[in-house]
Amino acid sequence: MLNQVADGVWVRQSGWVWSNAVVVRGEAGLILVDPGIDGADLDQLADDVDRLGIPVVAGFSTHLHWDHLLWHPRFGEVPRYAMPASAEAVGAVRERAQSMAAESASGIPLELIGLLTPLPDDGGPLPGEIVAHEAHALGHAAVLLADRGVLLAGDMLSDVLIPMLDPRRPGQLGAYEAALDRLGEAARHVDVVVPGHGAVAEGPEVAARLAADRAYIDALRRGIDPVDARLDQDWLAAPHRTNLEQARR
Ligand SMILES: [Zn+2]
Repeated sequence: MLNQVADGVWVRQSGWVWSNAVVVRGEAGLILVDPGIDGADLDQLADDVDRLGIPVVAGFSTHLHWDHLLWHPRFGEVPRYAMPASAEAVGAVRERAQSMAAESASGIPLELIGLLTPLPDDGGPLPGEIVAHEAHALGHAAVLLADRGVLLAGDMLSDVLIPMLDPRRPGQLGAYEAALDRLGEAARHVDVVVPGHGAVAEGPEVAARLAADRAYIDALRRGIDPVDARLDQDWLAAPHRTNLEQARR
């Protein structure tokens, strides 16, 4: 089911890690941001989009992780954009993304994973403004829809996931701090933040999300144990350990 969070912005949440597919109305039609996750989700999202009665003109992937690279034939053969660096690098990760998708969820059209086109400088059909940074994954992009008061945050500012540093690249603490500064600046223009996973943040919750991610990163920086409610979930112990190792390097 689509949940309208602002004028021309809808969110559909999957049961898989509370993943949020976002539908954005642009001037030319709809743009699907990070549609997911399993085959039934994608099919239901196609039903939801049909009901809106507006054509899908493009897709957008916020970053190169498999759960943000998905598509379904029913969305049509339209350009699926990503930041130029991501579109360039996707060839190297596509096969791994396909096998991770196959292992993690059922019914995903594997052949459609990660078929990306570089986003043009003017944003093409995607409305708003890109907030690019290097935290979590290469060429990560948030989308600021200032006129609608919405920030699409990708895999940042989640209430269920801790910040996850990119284990393959050095300098991730600094990259994460810089990214949170940029997102904090962007968030001054919004009252709704849609994370890639978890609940949509509204009103004062927006500042609370930024504060929680900042506190977590700050603890890693200082080499102390973060006090973070998200760590109550046992399954986050492993990514937390990876973060600790990455932070020490
Ligand atoms: Zn994700």
